[in-house]
Amino acid sequence: MRKLIILFLLIVTFSTTANAQNKKKYTVSKTNSEWKQLLTPKQYFVLRKSGTERPNSSPLNYNKKKGVYACAACKTPLYKSEHKYDSGSGWPSFDRAIKGNVELDTDYKLGYARTELKCNTCGGHLGHSFNDGPKETTGKRHCINGVALEFIPKK
Ligand SMILES: [Zn+2]
Repeated sequence: MRKLIILFLLIVTFSTTANAQNKKKYTVSKTNSEWKQLLTPKQYFVLRKSGTERPNSSPLNYNKKKGVYACAACKTPLYKSEHKYDSGSGWPSFDRAIKGNVELDTDYKLGYARTELKCNTCGGHLGHSFNDGPKETTGKRHCINGVALEFIPKK
């Protein structure tokens, strides 16, 4: 019996440490009420609640200007205009992110695994990555909510 208790305690200790390690610490970290004050209700819904904007609702869909797309919450540059392409999906699409600035996570919201894209600086939800992107480049489609992005035109 005693051995069993020890074994049980070991399992509990191990699983709680594993959980603690899974929780990523972001450089920019705020409480939900702080984010609510900083963001518009739409931005909050997408970035902090992993929501999805209506397709074709973002003016950035049709944006063909040169520049950088930054995180609307913490202003970290996430995507470059040269990697944006028209996927016809109704959401701004890119074939790759700026290296190191977008985190890939796994999301089971729809009952199966999808690759969730998050800002690596504040953890804000951006969208998802799919494998039906342009074959001549990376083959990836980063499907991003326009409301999570802020466009900074090149000077
Ligand atoms: Zn961010």
